[in-house]
Amino acid sequence: MKLTIYHLYPDLLDLYGDRGNIIALAARCKWRGIDVEVRQVSLGEELDFSQADLVFLGGGSDREQTLLIADLDLRAKGLNQAIEEGLVVLAICGGFQILGGYFLKADGQKIPGLGLLDFYTVAGKKRLIGNVIAELDSEFKEEMEAVYAPREQTATGPEVLKTLVGFENHSGRTYLGSGLRPLAKIIRGYGNNGEDFLEGVRYKNVFGTYLHGPLLPKNPHLADLLLSLALKRKGENFRLAPLEDNIEIAAHQAILARFSKEKG
Ligand code: GLN
Repeated sequence: MKLTIYHLYPDLLDLYGDRGNIIALAARCKWRGIDVEVRQVSLGEELDFSQADLVFLGGGSDREQTLLIADLDLRAKGLNQAIEEGLVVLAICGGFQILGGYFLKADGQKIPGLGLLDFYTVAGKKRLIGNVIAELDSEFKEEMEAVYAPREQTATGPEVLKTLVGFENHSGRTYLGSGLRPLAKIIRGYGNNGEDFLEGVRYKNVFGTYLHGPLLPKNPHLADLLLSLALKRKGENFRLAPLEDNIEIAAHQAILARFSKEKG
């Protein structure tokens, strides 16, 4: 069994170590004996979404987002069709913003998005920067628990954390349309816009988020959900054996501990 991961615009959407998400996904496949191929695709290069099991878009500065939107626009139809057919997509910050209607920059320039999801982004004067802790929607926690083989079949039980932790640095404020679910609720930090306490978006198997870090090494439960969804879509309905995630979980809990100390 093999998963094919497409890393889109790795030379443009490459902020804050987001390529670490690809490294984490590939490692978690290899540790489980799942073959994985990572294909990098940038401006003008061949891309057939029907060959993809998972697509990743990292964060990018306003300039890079502007550079790639015309190229991505040519691929919008194929991406939209694949998303409706259950393609797993992880889009971080700038990559997340691009999936919406538009990004209105601070200088008044409107970067058109792909319009695949019903949300828009408007840049604010102050950048939203800092560590983020967000609580997963309970529905996602149950979904994550179902990813793993039950305790009696494995040496260690699944460690499904109920939070996501990461780092944010964005000028954009994203506002979700009424039909869209957030990925999580903000406990600490700004999230989508610093106003509605929402973080990210979940639509079918599309996960958008403002969390850099990179995100997945400190949130192994989310990484495994993405892999499980991609495998299920290929008809591989087995449950993943939990990995020894002590280091990953310690990194996650270190952020939680730092925040609870700050709160006093
Ligand atoms: N340029 C976008 C913003 O500032 C996205 C930044 C990012 O990807 N970290 O909101």
